[in-house]
Formats: sequence, C-alpha cells, structure tokens
Amino acid sequence: MPGQIQEAARSVDVVHETDVLVVGSGPGGLSAALAASRAGARTTLLDRYGCFGGNMTQVGVESIGWYRHEQTVEADGIGRELEDRAAAMGAANPESQSLSQGIDGERFKWVADVLVEEAGITPFLHRLAVQPIVEDGAIRGVITESKSGREAILAKRVVDATGDADMAARAGAVVHKTPREEMLAASVMFSMSGVNKRKFLDAVKADPQTYRDWAGNAEWDIETTGKEDELFSPFLRKPFKRAVEAGLIPENLITFAGTWGTVTDQGDLTYLNLIHLSEIDGTSADDLTRGEIEGRQQAMFAIKALRAYMPGCEDAKLRNFGMTIGIRDTRKIDALYNLTGEDVREQGRFEDTIGIFPEFIDGYGILILPTTGRYYQVPYRSLVPKGVGNLIVAGRSIGGDKVSHASTRNMMCCTVSGQGAGVAAAISLQTDQPFDRLDVPGVQAELRRQGVRLN
Ligand SMILES: Cc1cc2nc3c(=O)[nH]c(=O)nc-3n(C[C@H](O)[C@H](O)[C@H](O)COP(=O)(O)OP(=O)(O)OC[C@H]3O[C@@H](n4cnc5c(N)ncnc54)[C@H](O)[C@@H]3O)c2cc1C
Repeated sequence: MPGQIQEAARSVDVVHETDVLVVGSGPGGLSAALAASRAGARTTLLDRYGCFGGNMTQVGVESIGWYRHEQTVEADGIGRELEDRAAAMGAANPESQSLSQGIDGERFKWVADVLVEEAGITPFLHRLAVQPIVEDGAIRGVITESKSGREAILAKRVVDATGDADMAARAGAVVHKTPREEMLAASVMFSMSGVNKRKFLDAVKADPQTYRDWAGNAEWDIETTGKEDELFSPFLRKPFKRAVEAGLIPENLITFAGTWGTVTDQGDLTYLNLIHLSEIDGTSADDLTRGEIEGRQQAMFAIKALRAYMPGCEDAKLRNFGMTIGIRDTRKIDALYNLTGEDVREQGRFEDTIGIFPEFIDGYGILILPTTGRYYQVPYRSLVPKGVGNLIVAGRSIGGDKVSHASTRNMMCCTVSGQGAGVAAAISLQTDQPFDRLDVPGVQAELRRQGVRLN
C-alpha cells in the first residue's frame, strides 16, 4: 500500500428521514422492505445499482425455487409471492429441474418496481451505502455516495441486507468470513440467445444428466443422502470436456461445469452457471476486478465450446453477462444465535421461529434436496447482530456456520429472513423495544397475518 492520506471532515446534507431503512434489495432486502411497509412502518429501500432484486436481477440468478419437489414444505410468505407475481406478470418461465418457476431476471426488474410502488416504499436507487451513522452504540442511518455526492439518510431502524453485512461490519458488529481459500466460488453468469430449443432439449433428453453426474472433479464432488443421485439435473460438462480434448479451449478450463435454468421458445438459454472462480473475496475490490475480467474471458470460451459441442447451440451467441460478478460467500454476523449444520440437517426447532425452510442444502460439497417433507425453523435471534443497536440483518449474512450458510443463503430462505427482519423492525418501532429484547410473539403474529408459515 503506497501510504495513507487524511480525508478532510465535512458536513453532509440529510436528504431523507424514515422509520425503517433497508440497505440492499436482493431477496432479503426486497422482502424486508415489503414486510416492514405492510406492517405499517414508513419504509425506504436503498440499492447501489439502478434496479431492485439483488442477485435475481443484477447477477441473473433466476432459480428461486429449483429445490421444489412434490414433498417440499414451503415457508409461503413473500418468497412465494415473488415467484407467483413474476409468473403472473410474464416474468418467469418453467424451471427445468423442479416444480418451480425460473424468474426472468430482466423482466423482474420491472416486477420489483411495481411491488415497491404498490407497497408505498420510498425507492432510493444508485446509492452506495458507505458508512453507518452510529451514536451511543446504535445505528441512526447511513451515509451514501452517488452521482449526487455524499448524502445522509436517517432511520429509526436499519436492516442490513447488503449480502456482505457492509453496514453491520462498519458499525462495529462482530462479523466473520470463511477463509478465502475455502470460500464458495464466485461466478460470472451469462445467458445466450439464438438457441434452437427443440434440438437443445432433444439432446438433453437423449443423454439426461443427474445429480450423480456432478461428481468428477474436486469442486463438484458432493455428499448427498443418496435420494438425489437419480434425479434429473440440467447439468453440463460433456461439451466442455470435448472442447478441451479437441484443443478448442485451454486445458485449465476443464473446470467448466454447471447448470442452465430455462430455455425459452424465443431461443434464450438463461442462468448459465458454468464459471466458478475460487479465492475471490467479494469484499475486496481487487478480487472483484480480477474475477470479472477472468470470468468474462472464461464465459467466452464456454460459449465457443457450447457452439461446437452442444446440439442446438450452433448459432447461439452471448445474450448478456450479469450486471456484476456473482458472490456467494462473504461476511456473516455473529448473531444472538448462530445456526449450525446440525440445525439445518436435523430439522432444528426454535421457539422464536420467524419462518421455515425445507431441508435444502447446497454448498461446501453438500447437496440435499427436500424430497421428504423435512424442514427446519429459522430463529429470530440469527438475524440480530451483537453490539450495535437498531440494526438487524437479512439475507445471506445472517448468523451461522458454513453448512447452515449452504442452506440459508438460498434465495427463498433469504426471503424468510428478510420478511422476518422487516416485520421485526416495524414491531420494534411500534413497541419501542430494542431488537435484542423484542416481543417475538408479536413478530410471529404479524408474520402469520402476512401469510408466513412458522411451523
Ligand atoms: C452465481 C450464483 C448462483 C446462485 N444460484 C442460486 C440458485 O440457483 N438458487 C438460489 O436460491 N440461490 C442461488 N445463489 C445464492 C443467492 O443468489 C444469494 O445467496 C442470495 O441472492 C442472497 O440474497 P441477499 O438478499 O442476501 O443478497 P443479494 O441478492 O446479493 O442482494 C444484495 C443487494 O444489496 C445491494 N448492496 C450491496 N452492498 C450495498 C451497499 N453498500 N449499498 C447499497 N446497496 C448495496 C446489492 O446491489 C444487492 O441488490 C446463487 C448465487 C450466485 C452468486
């Protein structure tokens, strides 16, 4: 580091005051804002980019319910509403491996706008929250940077739904990260257009892949319960293997493998989750820079291989890259209760449940699909960080260990923690109680009223 400079102190205009400020608008934040507003709080939803939706719209992660099978028990609530609303507004397509809808990430930008407007939420786009305003150990709002310069937004309660616990970490809450070399891989996501749907699906049917086929190199060697092994998976590896063998793409890209999400009548092949970049810490701008550039280069090689060796893709071309590299794994808060692998594997039950999630684990070498009706409860305490007042966390940075993260990071579970956090923020205000001494039965009553299944 070539030295340090001192930044001059300056006054910042307060541009807005609100009851509940939600920072970040992914499945966690969008759900939190809708829930807080529906529970009666004046709510503001802030995001660094020009659209709401987080990974769904910015990265192109479209498969919100790909785990769903006949026996799957769902939390209902806002997560299911997002999926159903997307389908009703023509922003979804049947997902290839499950009884769910794949969100159309582009159209969902508009769906999210409509939901935010209908709920009477104040929208703040294009603002990066850079610093929490902390007084007497409690967060009072955030400072943002944008084309308008530096601005302050004051709030009585703040929901950190940045995915990276940016506000919690900078406010002094205890957070932790998985060591870089063990972090879940980052991915540059892309979609293709010009795919011959019939030819493509015929080829998939002629050589159907299952979750067992994921095994084959270190990253994709997975633990299952056995019941997953025979199920169909929209998995692609063979075209890349052939391309390496033929010398069409570099040998080190033998790592290419992964899934596709939907293929439309118009020939769009979406959610191409094929590029996996290790040792990218999403809280390091240097790592993000490296990942974006390397990931795009790899995606272009992947397209070359698909055009050569995947029937139906002969004339296909890149449709789009995600607006940003996809990050799976950064900071988690040290919460009042940190979920454990045992909780998510063995149907954890908690008196302070704010919702349920089916037994679905995907990450760190484990794939367990909810085909048996088993589920666990998400405890309220896993959203509450230690050491900072007025702050609650939603989405993938809630408290837990690696294996629990492999479950709670999934988008539908992020909507569960999001809805719980939003309702908790509203109830905390109405009852004038801090998050760490909140009337949880009151939160549960409002969640039930909003259609959430708690047990
Ligand atoms: C490539 C990839 C594939 C995946 N596949 C699946 C899948 O198939 N199914 C599934 O369920 N899950 C999948 N996941 C996981 C899932 O997408 C995420 O864990 C989930 O989206 C996390 O939700 P979130 O709301 O916590 O955060 P995000 O969706 O990351 O949303 C965070 C939001 O906060 C905003 N933000 C961040 N920092 C700031 C700041 N400082 N100021 C203002 N705004 C900020 C961001 O712009 C974003 O809108 C995948 C993830 C990746 C990366």
